Amino acid sequence: MSATPRLSQVYSPNSSKGQNSPTETQLGESVQPSASSIPPLLGASLSELTQWVQQQEQPAYRGRQLHDWIYQKGARSLSEISVFPKQWREALVDVPIGRSILHYRSEAPDGTVKYLLRLADGHIIETVGIPTDKRLTVCVSSQVGCPMACDFCATGKGGFIRNLARHEIVDQVLTVQEGFGQRVSNIVFMGMGEPLLNLDAVIGAVKSLNQDLGIGMRSLTISTVGIPNRIRQLAQHQLQVTLAVSLHASNQTVREQLIPSARRYPLEALLDDCREYVQLTGRRVTFEYILLAELNDLPEHAVELARHLRGFQSHVNLIPYNPISEVDYQRPSPRRIQAFVDALEKQHIAVSVRRSRGLEKDAACGQLRASRSTQTHQL
Ligand code: SAH
Repeated sequence: MSATPRLSQVYSPNSSKGQNSPTETQLGESVQPSASSIPPLLGASLSELTQWVQQQEQPAYRGRQLHDWIYQKGARSLSEISVFPKQWREALVDVPIGRSILHYRSEAPDGTVKYLLRLADGHIIETVGIPTDKRLTVCVSSQVGCPMACDFCATGKGGFIRNLARHEIVDQVLTVQEGFGQRVSNIVFMGMGEPLLNLDAVIGAVKSLNQDLGIGMRSLTISTVGIPNRIRQLAQHQLQVTLAVSLHASNQTVREQLIPSARRYPLEALLDDCREYVQLTGRRVTFEYILLAELNDLPEHAVELARHLRGFQSHVNLIPYNPISEVDYQRPSPRRIQAFVDALEKQHIAVSVRRSRGLEKDAACGQLRASRSTQTHQL
């Protein structure tokens, strides 16, 4: 039996490009760097885990046991895996599974639960569990912070720290599943970060969530503000996930006002790439459209939007703006929202309005983290 597990020879987890490894968190807590350089196991497939246990001179069936303990039983340390021989477990004590630590939890009256999770390097991310009749949807983060700096977004106001690794994405889903004691049915990449700037880790996580946690590809949604060339790259993986594109405007001028990166990715080019996504994958695209009073919610905006989307296999999801403290956009009244819906429907555009969940407190993307990570309140 070899004393040092050689996981890195079996698979290489997604490196977190552009990441820094602070030893101080934003809370001012001092954090020990990970004792081990062995990459975390979470996110690894059954065959990767089986190869790894065999490298440890263990029989192949231990791979299945390890998979079961990590993904079904929620083991946080290999030392918990009581079916493993004692001596081997002791040798594995430094091998990280890659689970986060619950930093803060807040439950809204509608049952929506927001979690702040502390990562191994001390950074805090936000994850949301949203229960509906039969479903449990998890809103996951793909980055710590976000570099896109969209003007209406709390995460964007806080800047970018680093990409998440595959295991850090999978962990969020396991955490919500364990918290609710219910299987997760749907996942939306609508938490902190821009998933297409962290495509390798996001795709690795999507595959793991599908194969290791059994979540259907069609129940996964990747939401993007649009990054040149990346929609095509995603399409080439043929994952059958839903692509949601944060359009938010019916013309280039308003879009640039809200989304700085739109200057380098004209609306027409973005829409062409979305059309290509539909062709390559056979999946329709969802367009997200944040409604900001007076700015993009007039009936003529609806007509302009409909003109762009005519003949396009798509669906428009309207998101009434959740106010954030940094800017003074206004959420439109229910009457204005309905007028926008009516104007789109008149143009034969498939449309829905996103119901705000847990709006009572810190509801908008990144707001909870912004208000809580400066405090030391912990569970
Ligand atoms: N970067 C990705 C995913 C994260 S944001 C993207 O842009 O799509 C997920 C969704 O929440 C996006 O549609 C985003 O525009 C929206 N959003 C961000 N801040 C919001 C706010 N204050 N009110 C309503 N929607 C918001």
